Amino acid sequence: MRIHLITSSMDDIPLGCQIADIINQADGPVEIVVHETEIEFNDSDIEIQRLDYDEFIKQDDEVDFASFDDLSNEFSSYEMRVVEWSTLFNAAQQFKKKEDISDEDFCVLLTDLANDKNWFSAMHPSGNNVGFVHTSDWGHFIDGDLQFALAYEIMSMPFQNKMMQQGNAFHDIVHSTPIGCISDMCADKRDVQLKLRTADICDECYERFRTWNMSESLIEQALSVFENVRKQLLFKRRFRNTNRISTVEIRGRLLDLYLVDMNDRKIEFNPQEKAIYLLHLLHPEGLDSVEFSEKENELKVIYRTITSFSETHDIEHAIRQLVRLADNTISVKRSQLNRKLTNILGEELASHYKVKGPRGGRKNIELNRSSVRGIELVHNVLSS
Ligand SMILES: [Zn+2]
Repeated sequence: MRIHLITSSMDDIPLGCQIADIINQADGPVEIVVHETEIEFNDSDIEIQRLDYDEFIKQDDEVDFASFDDLSNEFSSYEMRVVEWSTLFNAAQQFKKKEDISDEDFCVLLTDLANDKNWFSAMHPSGNNVGFVHTSDWGHFIDGDLQFALAYEIMSMPFQNKMMQQGNAFHDIVHSTPIGCISDMCADKRDVQLKLRTADICDECYERFRTWNMSESLIEQALSVFENVRKQLLFKRRFRNTNRISTVEIRGRLLDLYLVDMNDRKIEFNPQEKAIYLLHLLHPEGLDSVEFSEKENELKVIYRTITSFSETHDIEHAIRQLVRLADNTISVKRSQLNRKLTNILGEELASHYKVKGPRGGRKNIELNRSSVRGIELVHNVLSS
């Protein structure tokens, strides 16, 4: 199942790519496709509304959450640019039609425009598989980077889609009192923190999803994405103010990379990215494109060690793809892995860890090799 992401602002395309990175690295049927396109709305579609704080934090439903706390004194009113649900759904539907996206695939609009029911996200109840996610104002409800919360929302869409197709039974299915489940209504939007931190699907909802013939692999992919999101959000909270170089340690049969001084955080490279990164760690002096292609053999051995492909043929093919200079594969992979490092470390710290160099010139990782442990594991693999 593909989920196509479109945006109402070109500025949100990198955000879409970050969400795709988070979801696509989890095994399962959902694949995110980001479209470089801007969906425009007429001024007549946008209404300016002024909301006070309790309106601002409320997703519209029948439950009246009259909860006030000290925070509410800090806010007088929010000016929101609001678009009706039907307008947002129509935009996604039109794009789906225009691009000939298959019926069972999803098309989701990422938009910084708010919606008339003030929901974080919604799918059309008809089962047309179109929906939207509101991308702004999250800073009021969560700690940490926006892309993780949005990845949670996007990965929830197939489930939300089924629930919304139940018509008004939707209101009975969702948990109006939050329990830390994907189906929490979060009428008080601040409750979204609970489900992001529990990263769970309750037994009742799990059984219901299975009754609806939602596949085990989809549920597993969702849980794996949620778990990843949970870790990142906690991590951000704990390490917001530190800005020092962490030792990188290579560990285990799969030569995984960990940031030892950052809560032992694993760098989630896919096998190709990891092989490229390890090769560059082996060569502090850097590699230009010709030298890189001459290392085909080393790359192949590393790749074979860390991948689960049993077919030699697949490995040969994957490596040939990487070292072929005619296409852009290697530079695309390099920017993907660099983006992952930036996501984890932030722009400034990441610059020490990235594979970088002048255009067409020699690329290297600047990190002092005294901050790298376990490189002998890679040497062992190459000499065995
Ligand atoms: Zn539940």
